[in-house]
Amino acid sequence: MIEGIIIKGIGGLYYVDTDRGVFECKARGLFRKEKIKPLVGDNVLIDLNDIDNTGYIMEIKSRNTELIRPPVANVNQSIIVFSLKNPKPNLWLLDRFLILSEKEKLNAIIVFNKIDLISDDVLKYILKIYENTGYKIIKTSTKSKEGINDLKEILKDNISVFAGPSGVGKSSLLNEIEPDLKLQTGDISAKTKRGKHTTRSSSLLELSFGGFVVDTPGFSSLDLSFIKEENLEIFFPEINEESLYCKFNDCKHNKEPGCNVKKSVKEGKISKERYENYLSFLSEIKKSRRY
Ligand code: GDP
Ligand code: ZN
Repeated sequence: MIEGIIIKGIGGLYYVDTDRGVFECKARGLFRKEKIKPLVGDNVLIDLNDIDNTGYIMEIKSRNTELIRPPVANVNQSIIVFSLKNPKPNLWLLDRFLILSEKEKLNAIIVFNKIDLISDDVLKYILKIYENTGYKIIKTSTKSKEGINDLKEILKDNISVFAGPSGVGKSSLLNEIEPDLKLQTGDISAKTKRGKHTTRSSSLLELSFGGFVVDTPGFSSLDLSFIKEENLEIFFPEINEESLYCKFNDCKHNKEPGCNVKKSVKEGKISKERYENYLSFLSEIKKSRRY
């Protein structure tokens, strides 16, 4: 038996990438009885038929992560792309993506693209907002090529899903990183799927320097109702840290007295923009519970 990773699945056939190449495989009958469905991203053991070079998936290794949409296993990081202009960054949406990444146990990396279009002052202003969050931030431009190598380093040997609104440059960045993937600009963005009724399943694109990228963007559902009000702070690393010093243990950092988070916002340790989004999500979660 040989080891591999499922990079694509169509109608009960799975394409497994191994040291010896990519093989078309079927799942062993037993999986169906056990109601385990192989997923793109699964690490598997296959039994290869040397005559026709097809195989059977015999074993699925346990998964580290499991995304529902797109349905891919073992993704370990999310590359959250926003452009600084055209379209201008929607930080409310960015903060939502960061929360969803935490939920899925993905390491989130923020990419600010199109830095060729803005002044240093605007860039500094945006970077300051995320300075104390602890998230890794990469500044890129597919025009000036700045930051492309940084992004390559981040992608190397990882399984990454890209996320971000359409038009921010996700496909352009991937094309820059790996021209051989021959992605049509716009390919990995959701817009190509609109209007089509067929649900195309996702696949993994192999990077020549090591690692994989999911070919469809992540986080199509932006629902936050899985979070309890008192737990929202966990999804904001810098708020979580400052909350240790709030007077009340169950402080929601809204109207409570002795709130160290509010104090930290005043002192500039937590950015006002992040805190405002925190409050906005807090009230959204509260409303979703009131039925
Ligand atoms: P996606 O929808 O996120 O995949 O975005 P695309 O890759 O399709 O890019 C949308 C548009 O932005 C295209 O017209 C690109 O040429 C343009 N674009 C992408 N990256 C940059 C960049 O770094 N700077 C500038 N000025 N334009 C860019
Ligand atoms: Zn507080």
